[in-house]
Amino acid sequence: MHMHQHEVIIVGAGGAGLMAALYASEGGADVAVVSKLYPTRSHTGAAQGGIGAALGNIDEDQPIYHAYDTIKGGDYLTDQNAAKVLAEEAIDSVIELERYGLPFDRTPEMRISQRRFGGHTRNFGEELVHRACHAADRTGHMILQTLYQQCIKKKVNFFDEFQVVDLIVNDGKTAGVVAVDLATGEFHIFHGKAVLFATGGWGRCWSVTSNAHSLTGDGAAIALRRGVPMEDMEFFQFHPTGIYRMGILITEGVRGEGGVLLNDKGERFMEKYAPSVKDLASRDVVSRAIYDEVANGRGINGKTYVHLDIRPATVNHYFEQEGSDKRIDDNYVESKLPDILDFCRTYLGVDPVKEPMPVQPTAHYAMGGIPTNVNAEVVIDENNTVMPGLYAAGETACVSAHGANRLGTNSLVDLVVFGRRGGMKMAEYVKGVDWTPLPDDAGKEVEAEFKRIRNGKGSSKPYELRDAMQKTMNDNVGVYRTDDTMKKAVDELKQLRESYYNDITIDDQGYKFNTDLMEAWELGCMLQLAEVTAQSALLRTESRGAHSRDDFPDRDDDNWMVHTLAYQTGAEKESDYRVTADKPVDLSLWEDEKAQGLPDDKQKFKPKPRVY
Ligand SMILES: Cc1cc2nc3c(=O)[nH]c(=O)nc-3n(C[C@H](O)[C@H](O)[C@H](O)COP(=O)(O)OP(=O)(O)OC[C@H]3O[C@@H](n4cnc5c(N)ncnc54)[C@H](O)[C@@H]3O)c2cc1C
Repeated sequence: MHMHQHEVIIVGAGGAGLMAALYASEGGADVAVVSKLYPTRSHTGAAQGGIGAALGNIDEDQPIYHAYDTIKGGDYLTDQNAAKVLAEEAIDSVIELERYGLPFDRTPEMRISQRRFGGHTRNFGEELVHRACHAADRTGHMILQTLYQQCIKKKVNFFDEFQVVDLIVNDGKTAGVVAVDLATGEFHIFHGKAVLFATGGWGRCWSVTSNAHSLTGDGAAIALRRGVPMEDMEFFQFHPTGIYRMGILITEGVRGEGGVLLNDKGERFMEKYAPSVKDLASRDVVSRAIYDEVANGRGINGKTYVHLDIRPATVNHYFEQEGSDKRIDDNYVESKLPDILDFCRTYLGVDPVKEPMPVQPTAHYAMGGIPTNVNAEVVIDENNTVMPGLYAAGETACVSAHGANRLGTNSLVDLVVFGRRGGMKMAEYVKGVDWTPLPDDAGKEVEAEFKRIRNGKGSSKPYELRDAMQKTMNDNVGVYRTDDTMKKAVDELKQLRESYYNDITIDDQGYKFNTDLMEAWELGCMLQLAEVTAQSALLRTESRGAHSRDDFPDRDDDNWMVHTLAYQTGAEKESDYRVTADKPVDLSLWEDEKAQGLPDDKQKFKPKPRVY
């Protein structure tokens, strides 16, 4: 095996990985970023709508309002200390990105332009606020390019197109990772003092998803196999507006600019479901509303989609009805949403300035994942015990700043805020510790697993198993769930796992860029995460945030104001999962308010009934 040694090893080169790399190297550490994709192809580059920060450039705003929205949006499962950090540090982070050269859109006064987004309000829910800082509808692309340039300037070492397939742990301490060089198929060991996973989400577990092909949850699955529990896996966000059947995302920014959702009768149905914030209710609410409209026969032409309308005539009609002076025209739409118009024209042959867009909910974002504290240190139990040398940030991590449902624009904030904290913490950590020696058999186990997949003589092709997994997740662990559907999913996933370990075969026996082999390995990761999602969802007998059960429609704060942790028990082949529900939610903001002796109605952060 090829050997490398760097103090800090960062797995993943999206926004979280690059921000961590930047700060770890600024802190004086020797840093290597190992990424299966070329960095600027990471999914962060697909983020469209914006990054939230209470800059108050358009209307009055404060971090505490941002924290409140984040907690309420998360249906009170959000760790309040994490929401506070996120909201407070968002401001600096955005300004820092601007100083690095990020070309944000501007207001006429040349301040960073901000737009409205679902669930973002002023003065504790009083009215919608402009908080999403954006560069047209290419905000993530600009963040990724900006951070990559800075990393190159700082001489961070990049190992592009190296796929990490295992974590090396010695005596409970992190010692490095094992990776496959995709160009040659050879194994490499990266010996490190600290490892940070920033491998993104796992939307590819579902058949209709906004997520790129590469989002297969590798980092989370690897951590799970090495004894790290997965937190709050039952919460997976469905974004309400994916392109019908394709899942490609239509940013919430469309509704932020005034776009409305209409059913087959031409009704603006969100008025019924969320009378005050309407189309800009949080994503779980809008996804369920679309689902209900469709279930009640009001999908367009009886099909499973509704219309999203950004035609200036429609938008101006509703602005007028709401007493707003704002008016938009075709040029405005073209300048604010160029990529969206391009997607629709290219993939659908629909021109959004002339026709409405067909949309349906699409699997979008993992709220759960590798549990961490606010310094991106991985914790391995309900007491927040830190695993020495292991870190996680970005979508693969669960801080948990997003609780049961993430607000739009808060993921990009999460990447830069917690990526930065992780980078700083690692730089400090590696200065004070010795190298953990590599165990003699480092890498051997995963090498054997690759041999097994390569030489499999069974009858199941990985893509067949993958299709079956995605279908069962969409049908049974989707926007709505019941005990029956989830049990069905667990049974099917167990059968698929059985075939995966005992009956698999691939076509390509080569070594160079063997995507057949790598995708088969990735399927193993997704099968695990899918099963953990279904098992965690089964345990939680309530509806909260993105987890909506027909059989338990209400939120149950008495019994379920807790995070779940799912542990793998046994080897992967036979693995079962033990899901616990003992990890307390941090309620420190509410407790702070209480300590100040404020009257009940001032206790803003206390769980409240769900009214939209
Ligand atoms: C279409 C779309 C639009 C979005 N719009 C917004 C938005 O407007 N605002 C917002 O806040 N959020 C948005 N989100 C969510 C947000 O973009 C993501 O949650 C976020 O970008 C994830 O960043 P990340 O750094 O965690 O991972 P990613 O950017 O997904 O990067 C993952 C990295 O991990 C690497 N990797 C993965 N597995 C391995 C492995 N085994 N070995 C080595 N490397 C590996 C990849 O190469 C990649 O570099 C959007 C998401 C999508 C899909």
